[in-house]
Amino acid sequence: MTMGSTKQQILQSYQDLAGLSEALLQKYNTAGPRYTSYPTAPSWTDEFDATTYEQALKATNAPGAVEQNLPLSLYVHLPFCEHRCHFCGCNVVITPHREQAEKYLSYLFQEIDRVAELTADSREVVQFHWGGGTPTYLSPKQIERLFLYQQERFNLRPDAEIAIEVDPRVTTKEQLTVLRELGFNRISMGVQDFHAETQQAINRIQPVGMTEAMVNYCRELGFSGINFDLIYGLPHQTEETFGQTLDEVIRIQPDRVALYNFAYVPWISPHQKKMDEATLPEGSVKFRIFRRAIERFLDAGYVYIGMDHFAKPTDELTRAQQEGSLHRNFMGYTTKAGCELYGFGVSAISGLESYYAQNHKKLSTYYEAVEAAQLPTMRGFALSHDDRLRRAVINSILCQGQVDFEAIDLSFGVACRHLFADALETLTPMVGDGLLVINETGFQLTPLGRIFSRNIAMPFDAYFNQPSKPLFSKTL
Ligand code: SF4
Repeated sequence: MTMGSTKQQILQSYQDLAGLSEALLQKYNTAGPRYTSYPTAPSWTDEFDATTYEQALKATNAPGAVEQNLPLSLYVHLPFCEHRCHFCGCNVVITPHREQAEKYLSYLFQEIDRVAELTADSREVVQFHWGGGTPTYLSPKQIERLFLYQQERFNLRPDAEIAIEVDPRVTTKEQLTVLRELGFNRISMGVQDFHAETQQAINRIQPVGMTEAMVNYCRELGFSGINFDLIYGLPHQTEETFGQTLDEVIRIQPDRVALYNFAYVPWISPHQKKMDEATLPEGSVKFRIFRRAIERFLDAGYVYIGMDHFAKPTDELTRAQQEGSLHRNFMGYTTKAGCELYGFGVSAISGLESYYAQNHKKLSTYYEAVEAAQLPTMRGFALSHDDRLRRAVINSILCQGQVDFEAIDLSFGVACRHLFADALETLTPMVGDGLLVINETGFQLTPLGRIFSRNIAMPFDAYFNQPSKPLFSKTL
């Protein structure tokens, strides 16, 4: 059997998830990282500061550096929102005072200048993403200024993926038109749930007609990829009400869907207390909602990409999955493997080949660092050889649904089977549960196993079982 036909079979067999029982969901619903990085952010240290990050940028952009040949992905964090949704777990600044955005831009420009000076001119940008907060808190003129400012300082490839997160409640046609004219080609919309009672409870009134009108307008303008973010586990959700939301979503046909699990953590996000805890769907209801969503998307022809992402068969994400070039970073699954990511703005994260760096999370501290003519780095991490090796294994589990130890041995000069003997032992019960198959070159996740890929990755995480292990959300 060829590799291509094996993959085809696996994709098709997602249609048959009969093994996805509630008992299995319960069994593997343990706390664990989402692996948007490895090592994960709680292991990073504030000893990695602005000076360390500046040295890392210089070293990786120096003539002859291997990284100099890697393309770039740029991320800009725009933190402002006018009102807070009660479920929100993002780093946001809630303010109706629009002049704050102008001040923020003036600092952002300084950070962009500093990083651009350290970046080799030859490096091409293949992905550019604006996230938030609400990026369309900016006026059309501000959007244009920020985009052009960055475009003039970085080498944006004509075919770059240029994406933005928009909130249909506040985004205008004028803003969308400007975005499209500037070259934005992907849009991601927060939808969460169309059920009126749930929307009321989460303080986010966004009727289905409003979202659909925005999708239609984006399509008229020629945006090629539209993503919806949905959340399960919100107040008043039942299998039936969320089923209605799924019907509407499938009717509107976004190109991609991210289906996130809501984590009620009022000790971290006190505003979540505004939701009545008694209205949150309890364990088995939540599992049934999740299972129903998987079944509905697969029935409707979407492909399960991994963890919480679905895409149409024609979408680039699906093609990347089939070709084995899928990648995972702080923005979730992406088609742009092999890039270094530079993050700008408050709380933004950068992910280089051998370093991670995060900017200050508080606006005041971010401003102070920029005023002091420093990079606004709060913490970071320099990866060892072992970290990079384990990251390769974990990424392969989450993105390719398989691990080929022989290939990894060759890249890293190690004997994986020997090094990971204990991890492989830990996977044995999962083999019994039908989540993966151990083969001569490594192991392969089954369709069922891809739903539990975080659990399969955890045994390869050297930091996960340390005594000071941080608190993570549940895997499902
Ligand atoms: S619009 Fe998005 S970022 Fe802003 S409060 Fe709501 S969920 Fe959070």
